[in-house]
Amino acid sequence: MPLNNTTSMAVSDTLPVIDTHVHFDDDRFDEDRIDVYQRAQSAGVSAMVVPATMASRFNKIQCIANEFTHVYATAGLHPMFSKQHQPAHLETLGNTLQHCVAIGECGLDKPERHTDITQQEFWFEAQIDLARTQALPLIIHARNTVEAVILMLKRAALSRSAGNGVVHSFNGSLQQAHQLLDLNYKVSFGGPITYPRAHKLHKLVASLPLEAIMFETDAPDQPGIHQRGQRNEPAWISQVTAQAAEIRKTSVQEVTAASNLNAVQLFALPEQLLKLH
Ligand SMILES: [Zn+2]
Repeated sequence: MPLNNTTSMAVSDTLPVIDTHVHFDDDRFDEDRIDVYQRAQSAGVSAMVVPATMASRFNKIQCIANEFTHVYATAGLHPMFSKQHQPAHLETLGNTLQHCVAIGECGLDKPERHTDITQQEFWFEAQIDLARTQALPLIIHARNTVEAVILMLKRAALSRSAGNGVVHSFNGSLQQAHQLLDLNYKVSFGGPITYPRAHKLHKLVASLPLEAIMFETDAPDQPGIHQRGQRNEPAWISQVTAQAAEIRKTSVQEVTAASNLNAVQLFALPEQLLKLH
């Protein structure tokens, strides 16, 4: 997408960035989706990867991906809605994947909050199987479940050469992050790293290799500290990259270029996204 050179100075000296996880299809964007997209463009967002949460959203995401340039659809069954998923949805998922850059959002959610962990595991396992047969990367949700997710991924032993997937909004330990890296997964970070007390996240961002890290907003959820309580937007990803650069004592360009490269490789996005500046 052509970047508007007349926007602020901050944009012109910053590399365009791919938002690797944004729920751009969310109903909270229905009123002003075009404005949200334009603000994202003006803020230097070059592409968005839009994860699905349930089968009834697949069509809407496909439409949005067709309507907006460099918006990439995925399809998946989110663990938070495991009770609503039906076996037929797996077939719908399989049929949608030819237009998708990944399978997700799938995974496991907070066991203390749900009584359906067995169901969650069933849907996750089925999507891991699809990832294997379709050779697509996984977008994984692992809130308070990193250990269990790692166990399932270990057992699955996927071997996609461009990477098996990403654990998004990662909030596990450094050791767990390294286990994921060893299994050829990446981890991504968003708004939560902008909070000064997020010491554990800061340590992760500081110490993991750049080849393992990607950035996201998870908008409209998980806003950074400056937008606390507000609807999050892809335009605000620059706060995430700025924070990551500060933590790593390096330039925004360096962390952005690394995340972009990782995203282009993992999701097989057009290489032209790496040539924008
Ligand atoms: Zn998400």
